[in-house]
Amino acid sequence: MSRPTEVLTVDVAIIGAGPTGLFAAYYAGFRGLSMAIVDSLPEPGGQVTAMYPEKMIYDVGGFPAVRGRDLVQGLVDQAAPWKPTYLLGRKAEGLVEHGEGFELTLDGGDVVRAGAILITAGIGEFTPRPLPAGDGWLGRGMVHFVPALEAHRGQHVVVVGGGDSAFDWVLALHPVAASVSLVHRRSKFRAAESIVREARELGIRIITDAEVTALRDRDGVLAEVEVEVKGGGTEVLPAQTVVAALGFTADLGPIENWGLEIDHRAIGVDSTMRTARDRIYAAGDVAAYPGKVKLIATGFGEAATAINNIAVALNPEAHLFPGHSSNVE
Ligand SMILES: Cc1cc2nc3c(=O)[nH]c(=O)nc-3n(C[C@H](O)[C@H](O)[C@H](O)COP(=O)(O)OP(=O)(O)OC[C@H]3O[C@@H](n4cnc5c(N)ncnc54)[C@H](O)[C@@H]3O)c2cc1C
Repeated sequence: MSRPTEVLTVDVAIIGAGPTGLFAAYYAGFRGLSMAIVDSLPEPGGQVTAMYPEKMIYDVGGFPAVRGRDLVQGLVDQAAPWKPTYLLGRKAEGLVEHGEGFELTLDGGDVVRAGAILITAGIGEFTPRPLPAGDGWLGRGMVHFVPALEAHRGQHVVVVGGGDSAFDWVLALHPVAASVSLVHRRSKFRAAESIVREARELGIRIITDAEVTALRDRDGVLAEVEVEVKGGGTEVLPAQTVVAALGFTADLGPIENWGLEIDHRAIGVDSTMRTARDRIYAAGDVAAYPGKVKLIATGFGEAATAINNIAVALNPEAHLFPGHSSNVE
């Protein structure tokens, strides 16, 4: 039997739970607006969570250095008092007008009714590049990224890939896992030389010119991975987790059909962050205007601009300037 369609009504629907969308959620709450945040990924944090949660970031105002995952946690905590509704693992698909606002349809059919839409979709919906031998193993021992290192404490972990993310996971998991091995199908890596060197110096097992050919379970739980080494036969590694870090493709997908001005996967906005359509705004990496610089810091400023202008679009009596948060008890 199919699940009945759920309808959620909010002032602002935010599409994308990356740094920009999360800060926009805080800001919407500060402006007295209710909000839902939709993201196709199962965790908040956008590119930061998906690609570099363990890296230090040095160019966010107020933080001389902040680890990616800590910045995301801070943003989630900052928005929390306003009780955002998170619709994670859900893709925004259809958008139609409804009264003065919109009806946003998510994959699976649920609907968010909102007075305004803020698109903070970054570079689009991420689709992890598949590991052919891992077909059917997602969520059964195979993952594409590692939101919580502790979940892998004491495990044997095999990371597949040769880019920065693959090496980031290897280095982050090394202190907690029982063992970490990296399997890469070439002899050269896309990852920065310094992190490859660091992994080698830590004695991490790196198997190159090799492909994972099978994952095998014991009593229904992932237990081992078969690796075929070019010209060197087959090897079996113990593994409770396989991290398939083969990169992502990104695509704006259905948003392309919403009647916005889109060029090179970026949405044209004016200085209020309004798109070509009333009550639809965009901010962060996805928003484009002359001189745009795609950075977390830029996204924060754009989120504040967008939400303050949305507040006025929803209520013309509202002030554009929100007042200073430091004056609020
Ligand atoms: C390796 C790396 C290192 C970086 N280092 C830095 C740095 O040091 N400093 C810095 O300022 N910036 C850095 N950046 C850039 C920074 O991460 C981005 O500028 C930032 O993440 C943009 O945030 P955002 O919220 O606009 O978009 P994103 O982080 O891309 O988040 C967008 C979210 O929208 C979701 N989404 C998209 N379409 C849909 C849809 N249809 N339905 C549902 N969800 C959808 C996606 O799943 C994603 O979670 C780095 C980027 C990379 C890849």
